[in-house]
Amino acid sequence: MPKAFGSTSPWADPAWYSGRPSPYYNARYVKLRDWVRKWTEDNVVGNEEEWEKVGKIPDDVYEKCARDGLLVPIAFGNRIPREWGHYPIAAGIKAEEWNGFHDFILWDELFRGASSISSQFIGLVVGAPPLKQYASPALQKKILPEILSGKKRICLAITEPSAGSDVRNITTTAEKTPDGKHYIVNGEKKWITNGIFSDYFMTTVRTGGAGASGMSMLLIPRLPGLKPRKIEIGGSSMGATTYVTFEDVKVPAEYLVGQEGGGFKYTMSNFNHERLWIAFQALRGSRICLEDAMTWCQKREAFGKTLIEQPVVRHKFGHMARQIDGLQSWIESLIYELENMSHAEGSKVLGGATALLKVQAGIVAKYIADESQKLMGGLGLTKTGQGARIESIARAIPTLIVPGGSEDVLLDLGVREALKLSAAAKKAKL
Ligand SMILES: Cc1cc2nc3c(=O)[nH]c(=O)nc-3n(C[C@H](O)[C@H](O)[C@H](O)COP(=O)(O)OP(=O)(O)OC[C@H]3O[C@@H](n4cnc5c(N)ncnc54)[C@H](O)[C@@H]3O)c2cc1C
Repeated sequence: MPKAFGSTSPWADPAWYSGRPSPYYNARYVKLRDWVRKWTEDNVVGNEEEWEKVGKIPDDVYEKCARDGLLVPIAFGNRIPREWGHYPIAAGIKAEEWNGFHDFILWDELFRGASSISSQFIGLVVGAPPLKQYASPALQKKILPEILSGKKRICLAITEPSAGSDVRNITTTAEKTPDGKHYIVNGEKKWITNGIFSDYFMTTVRTGGAGASGMSMLLIPRLPGLKPRKIEIGGSSMGATTYVTFEDVKVPAEYLVGQEGGGFKYTMSNFNHERLWIAFQALRGSRICLEDAMTWCQKREAFGKTLIEQPVVRHKFGHMARQIDGLQSWIESLIYELENMSHAEGSKVLGGATALLKVQAGIVAKYIADESQKLMGGLGLTKTGQGARIESIARAIPTLIVPGGSEDVLLDLGVREALKLSAAAKKAKL
């Protein structure tokens, strides 16, 4: 059995940390886990309150994240192309070794030790994939080094005041100039995470008629006419949610990502990793709530005994624990499936399952934050002290449930995708 690591409190860390056997993890993953935990302790702990006040980590810290090897895996998710392997990668892992389990461990540990700083990477998580998958080699060569070195930041701008779940309905226009050298962009985007400090906006625009086929994706630099303003929302300020207005923004035509008319497809294929990533966040948030509630219930006395000695309280932990273990297993099995399929096959076969996983993750996190908050009594409502982490996670639950596809929309999508696969399987049997 491998050496035990992390908390000894039940369910505070995944079972494999305690040395229990797992079909997935080996020494390569242990190295990354230990490295990220130490990195967050050395670089984040103690600074979060100050950064939270300004809603941004300092630029030199963000650039250090690049030098220490965090930004490359964050931008590339479960696969790091060899051509970017000369950039530093967390724990010295080689580009060709990096996979979906590394991605999971990296985020799980970042959410555990550095949850607020994690929100500063969201723009990179969702904005970089269309660039690396669909942009021309010349555009990638120009932009990726800037964002992988931490000198520039990127975000994803899809949603508009009148088009959220219904992505096909966007109205922001990009009209080609008569000489074909530029697009002139006009419109508005809403709820854009990290927008306020981003240098590049990966933006869906309308280059053609109504509907999906008229949509394209354009990388818009912070040019004259692009005006971001912060939206105040509940939860952490580090997400830097932003309203963006485009007024006659003149964008060079070579900033088109992929083909004109491809914007809807690129947007949809981008969602799967974002949804999986939200599930990672929900899982670690749930573990943190359970851990703090457990610590409290083991010492708080009421009616002559500690709270954990009350069978009703143990039942509550039992209900939380079964959901955490179930979520951990579902995430791991989905990653395993993705690791054993091509990107195209994974998107086709696992898009619906990923949507349902994201829904489940939000429901689990909401349940556990709520139960933990109740177990803390008044302490669950205070922003400082022993209930502070639970209070903060409970406040941020809607940011797991609405972005990346809201619960109702994803439940519907998950079932529609399953029916589609079932119909295709039936047809193949005939
Ligand atoms: C904190 C935060 C960060 C975000 N970050 C980004 C970002 O970085 N980039 C970006 O582009 N967007 C971002 N978003 C936008 C997010 O993706 C949208 O809010 C989300 O897609 C829902 O869109 P909407 O708010 O317009 O709600 P609507 O689309 O109006 O939906 C509202 C509700 O109506 C119901 N509903 C709608 N359609 C259906 C349907 N077909 N079936 C059943 N029920 C339905 C659901 O209950 C849904 O929750 C962010 C949002 C938040 C809150």
